[in-house]
Amino acid sequence: MKVVDMHCDTIGEIFGAKRRGEEVSLLENRLQVDLKKMKAGDYLLQNFALFVDLKETDCPFETCTRMADTFYREMEKYGDWISPVTSFAQMEENEKQGRMSALLTLEEGEVCQGDPALLRTLYRLGARMMTLTWNYENSLAFPGKGGGVPETERGLKERGFEMVEEMEALGMIVDVAHLSDAGIWDVVRTAKKPFVASHSNARSLADHSRNLTDGMIRAIAEKGGVIGMNYCCHFLEKIPEGGRQFSRTRRIVEHMKHMKNVGGTGCIGLGSDFDGIPGEVELGTAAGLPLLAEAMEDAGFTEPEVAAVFHGNVLRLYKEIL
Ligand SMILES: [Zn+2]
Repeated sequence: MKVVDMHCDTIGEIFGAKRRGEEVSLLENRLQVDLKKMKAGDYLLQNFALFVDLKETDCPFETCTRMADTFYREMEKYGDWISPVTSFAQMEENEKQGRMSALLTLEEGEVCQGDPALLRTLYRLGARMMTLTWNYENSLAFPGKGGGVPETERGLKERGFEMVEEMEALGMIVDVAHLSDAGIWDVVRTAKKPFVASHSNARSLADHSRNLTDGMIRAIAEKGGVIGMNYCCHFLEKIPEGGRQFSRTRRIVEHMKHMKNVGGTGCIGLGSDFDGIPGEVELGTAAGLPLLAEAMEDAGFTEPEVAAVFHGNVLRLYKEIL
């Protein structure tokens, strides 16, 4: 089953390794995502996020562009395997040529430093999706508080509303992953286009502020948006302190089932968070995705439903917005 995944942190890992003087390649490495594993897992498209930690840089925009350089250097090296895309048509063309596709995304809205001119510059650099926050307050909005405590008072700031408007005008997908509850509802109220939570699960199954309430799932679904299922064990279930950090495949499917009951199959996608999550993942790596399709079928999902979750729903959104 063809895979489209909305979030991984692989470029950040490669970027960090290079800074330490190590050579890590996208073709083959010890991470969860590399091109050979993606091929084995039947990938069509991977979103590669550039995550910038505001505590580790004085100039988020510059750090982000340096990471983008790492992304493009890897893409240039392995052009027979994969090629970056900024539209649905380019993805189709890649598929015809037997190549996988890569979509550049941003995790931390402050990479624009509150300036729409920098957002447009990153758009021209190929970025097509951006989370408004990571886990820190920034000039656009407030994040979830972390742990089980949701932030229900403070959402988008004035610049955040402006940035959402500019993103929609450009054709860039708004990503509410990491955003506070109040911020997500601000986006629900003001967004004119479908948007995503690229790597978030259901809060009623795992009580964490990074996960979505049933009301949010319904609202995102009603707008035609998609939620990428995150394989992080802490967003799948409560892990007791000192307990084994293990992401069970069946538990991922349980979150999908819940999403289906609340928002319908059309709002579910994949957002692995590979190379950005702690512990052990039962699926192993990108090469293990056929096991997830099997687990879905075992749980009663039909083949068309598996196809919708694995690629159909996200591609519908890309076709509409990019
Ligand atoms: Zn994240």
